[in-house]
This record gives sequence, structure tokens and C-alpha cells, in this order.
Amino acid sequence: MELKKLMDPAICGIVEQLQQAGYEAYIVGGAVRDLLLDRSPKDYDLSTSATPEEIRKVFRDRRTLIIGKRFQLVHLFLHGDIIEISTFRKRPQPQQELHKPGREVPENLIVRDNEFGTAQEDAWRRDFTVNALFYDPVADKILDYTGMGLKDIENGCIRSIGDPALRFEEDPVRILRAIKLAGQYGFTFEPETGNAVRSCMDFIDVVSVSRLTLELEKILKNPYGHRILKAFREYGFLKKFLPYVDARWETPQGKYMLALLEERNRRMRSGLYRDSISLAMSICTLPFAEEVIGGNPPGGLWDQQAEIHDRMWDLLHAVLAPAALTRRACSAAVRTLLIQDRIKKGQLKKLSSHPGYPHGRELAIIQNNVNWHIETLEESLVEPDPDLVKRSSGGRRRSRKPKNRPAQNT
Ligand code: ATP
Ligand code: MG
Repeated sequence: MELKKLMDPAICGIVEQLQQAGYEAYIVGGAVRDLLLDRSPKDYDLSTSATPEEIRKVFRDRRTLIIGKRFQLVHLFLHGDIIEISTFRKRPQPQQELHKPGREVPENLIVRDNEFGTAQEDAWRRDFTVNALFYDPVADKILDYTGMGLKDIENGCIRSIGDPALRFEEDPVRILRAIKLAGQYGFTFEPETGNAVRSCMDFIDVVSVSRLTLELEKILKNPYGHRILKAFREYGFLKKFLPYVDARWETPQGKYMLALLEERNRRMRSGLYRDSISLAMSICTLPFAEEVIGGNPPGGLWDQQAEIHDRMWDLLHAVLAPAALTRRACSAAVRTLLIQDRIKKGQLKKLSSHPGYPHGRELAIIQNNVNWHIETLEESLVEPDPDLVKRSSGGRRRSRKPKNRPAQNT
């Protein structure tokens, strides 16, 4: 199998360190799925029998942080990235007593989830069989506790672990995660899971803004994010997730947005530019800004006007609502949008030292490839200063769970 060959050796080292300290430790979740599908994982989740305190002791020489109330996890900082290490947990019981009378929440919604368990219990508490595979890179061995994970990966099948309607009621974000798998990999639903996706859609209404925001951030960073949005639209989920975009999906602006996002993701997969959230936010807003602010068709920029900053800011929030992204990411996205006019007109003097230049240049190249087709544009744009690029990357490369999350990647 040798999945190990496709992996970052530093991650194997972390697993090995935990195992040598006497604990069980595995790579879990999306990274195993991606490795099996021959895609390079964008990040790694680890799961272990060590408790958060024990994990910290094993890595006393490195920076670790215990985070979260709802889920206690350890963040281990490795070469500027965050590796998330969680302790095996059991599947929690729904805690109806915690639901206040009169509050409209699904009866089986789970509000606390932090009881430690075994590796097997940890696999069974996960959402889908394709997400419940554990990989031991030291022994190069896959553990498929549900007995269906490997087969479902092979057949491209999304199958809920347990009764899908109950699992969606426990945590409605799983509905979003299911459709995401369909979009990202072209997987299809096992019939019962597919029926529950449709019938449980309204459970999403109880999901907090912070969790929706976190999911949007992940999609904006995802190299297949455009496919995920298409699947959201197809399953009628986009009207809950991005209602502004959903209402304009079939318009020239909606189509242009998707084409830009697709080109951005193609460039990201080719390693031409990084997975910036704020760049993707500016892409989602640009066609609507051309229409609302400039009164222009897709590809016809507004003129640079001093007073449009606040209008752009409001529009960005409207496009991405109900998610509420950080102020820092919004500022970066607005900055990226506002220099497009100057870039297109070739007013490049001093622009290369502008803090918005790296993303601004990338957005202009994306627009040029999709629509402007100005032959000389890319060569006229000087490479951004590497220091500026570093600063615009906004710190660590992973933003995680809603509570106590580290600085966001802008
Ligand atoms: P991605 O590639 O987008 O990171 P992922 O499946 O790894 O996909 P994460 O949010 O990183 O998504 O979650 C890691 C793993 O944790 C999942 O693969 C799944 O096993 C489990 N998980 C995440 N969210 C839930 C949930 N809401 N319910 C049950 N299990 C979950
Ligand atoms: Mg993951």
C-alpha cells in the first residue's frame, strides 16, 4: 500500500513519538481519505489514546496548546503549520436535559462531546464510513473499524455511520459535510443517507454562525471549493449557506463568480498561488461589485472612486452572510478588490509595495485568464515582494474549530 510514501515524513515522526511513549496513534479523517484517493492531503488530523495532558508531555520540546471546550484537542505547531491531535472519544449520548424548554432545537442535538474512549469507539462516533479510517504510518496499516470505509472509498459512496437521520439531528453540520463529500470527490449517496440529507435539511437552521463561518472558511481554502458550491446548489443547500449567491446563481454575475473561483482553484492545485481565504472572498464579491457599484456587466470593472470602500465592505458582508468572517480577512479582501481597477489600467507605479498587491495581482491574473485576455498583462505585473507575500499569508496555515481558534489565514 505504502501510503507513507505520499506523506509528509514529519507527520509520521509525530505518530511514532506518541507510539514510542506507549500510546496508540493514527492519522485519521480527511488525510487518510485523500491519500487513498491519490490526492495530497491539505492537512493532517491525528488521533491517539493519550489524553491532552499526556500529549503535551510527549511533545514537551515543541509548542503545544490545549484548545476547545466542546472538544478538547491539542494543537501542535510544526514548521508554521498546526497539527491537530485529538484523544479517542466515544459517541456521546444526546443530552436532552441540557435543552432549555421552549427552545426550538432538534431533540437529539448533541451539545457536549468530550468523553474519552478506545480507537474503535472513536471510529464509530465519526460521521461517514469514508471518514472513519485510521492509518498507522509506522506499521503502514489501515484500520477499518466500520468494515465499510475502504469499500465505500473504492465505490465513491457516502454512507452515514448509524441511522443517518439521527446522526444529522445530533449534529446538522454533518448534512453540509455529506454534500461537501459529494461535490469534492463526485461521490454518490447510499440511498438512506441521501434521503436523510434531503429530509433533514432544515436542521441546519440551528447551526451557529461561528460553525457556518468555519465551514465557509474551509470551503474557500479548498482546491475543489467550486465543486462543493455546485453540489450545495444542486441539493438546495446553497440558499441556506450563501443566500445572496444562491439568488444570483443563474445570472451572468453568478456564472462569472464560479468561473473565477474555478480558475483560482486550478491555479492553487498547480501550486501557482496559495490557499488564501481573503482572495477567495474577493472573488465571490467581485462580479456583484461590478454590477452594484459600477453598474457594469461581468468583467467590466467599476472606476476607482474614493468613496466606494464602505460600499464594498457592506457588499462583501452581504455576499458572504450569514457567515461572519474576521475583520482582518474582510479588510484584505476589500483591499484586493479596490486595486483591480489600477492594475487593469496599468497604473502600477508604487503598486508592487502596496500590501494588497500579492492577492491583487493574483486576482487580476485570474480575471485575465477567464475574461480580459490581455496578452501582455501578466508580464507587466512585477512579481510581488516575497516579504509582502509572507505578511499577506496571515500566520499559520490552518484555522480550526470555532472556539479558541488561532489567527486566521487571510
Ligand atoms: P477536510 O479534508 O475538509 O479537512 P475532514 O473530513 O478531515 O475533511 P475535518 O473537519 O478535518 O474534516 O474533520 C476530521 C475528521 O473528524 C472527519 O474526517 C471525521 O472523521 C470527524 N468529524 C469531523 N466533523 C464531524 C462531525 N460533525 N461529526 C462526526 N465526525 C466528525
Ligand atoms: Mg481534516
